[in-house]
Amino acid sequence: MNEALRVSCRKGYPVRVVRSHKEKRSSYAPVVKGVRYDGIYRIEMCWRKSGIQNHKVCRYLFVRCDNEPAPWTSDDHGDRPRPLPVIGELENAVDVTIRKGDPSWDYDEEESRWMWKKPPPASKKKVNCGDEGGKRIRKRKQQGTAKRQLPKEFKCLICKNVLTNPLTTPCAHNFCKACLEGAFAGQSYVRQRTCHGRRTLRVQKNVMKCPSCANDIADYLQNPQVNRELAGAIESLQRRAAAENEESETSGQGDESDEQTDSVADTEVSNGDSVEETEVEGRASKKAKVEV
Ligand SMILES: [Zn+2]
Ligand SMILES: [Zn+2]
Repeated sequence: MNEALRVSCRKGYPVRVVRSHKEKRSSYAPVVKGVRYDGIYRIEMCWRKSGIQNHKVCRYLFVRCDNEPAPWTSDDHGDRPRPLPVIGELENAVDVTIRKGDPSWDYDEEESRWMWKKPPPASKKKVNCGDEGGKRIRKRKQQGTAKRQLPKEFKCLICKNVLTNPLTTPCAHNFCKACLEGAFAGQSYVRQRTCHGRRTLRVQKNVMKCPSCANDIADYLQNPQVNRELAGAIESLQRRAAAENEESETSGQGDESDEQTDSVADTEVSNGDSVEETEVEGRASKKAKVEV
């Protein structure tokens, strides 16, 4: 069992979750190649169950509790507290950890947002000293920046995901090429006015409003060019974030050689949110936890 995750569960610490498109078991894994920052989660419980070949498999129930809406929703608000889903496999689980006290990260009804209700854990920066520790911290800090930049600054205003083949309109709004073209699918740029159904008298341009503002972008839509500069910036950030994920996949092995950690099968909650987990995400988030 990953002790850091168990501590996060007991204390109710916020944990940052990053999902990779390589995560085949999760229906919430991004479709687009790369990784996506999915927000702050809490581990509500963890347990072990027997997996294939009698390996003990560690499982963690992750529940999203972020003030920002999830990347896959069109909601304009973040998560609200909700009842935990029923996990059938708990019946045969062993080593079950459930939080007893109040969580450190919790929803404040008065302020209508998630916040620290108890002081966050002391930063590990104080513990780490000497050259190597310093380097590692600097690296982690950079990584965190890369992960945060991806969804926030390079978000498509239609699908809310990281931009794919980004188009930048003359009104300076960014969309995936497929999303923007999809928004106007089936609409023609011009309409023809006919006189008694016979001869075309004149051609009139259709107005096509930017999905983000009222600007007419019909002219632009006739031949939109992918913003190569923006695409390049996103690609390099995605490479950095992917490298970061690989790094976290290979680090932290050791005390768990006799165990495998598996993913909780996605459990749909009433609002369509997901409850799931993988060890990789856990590790990635464990690293970032102190940054929250
Ligand atoms: Zn899009
Ligand atoms: Zn616009």
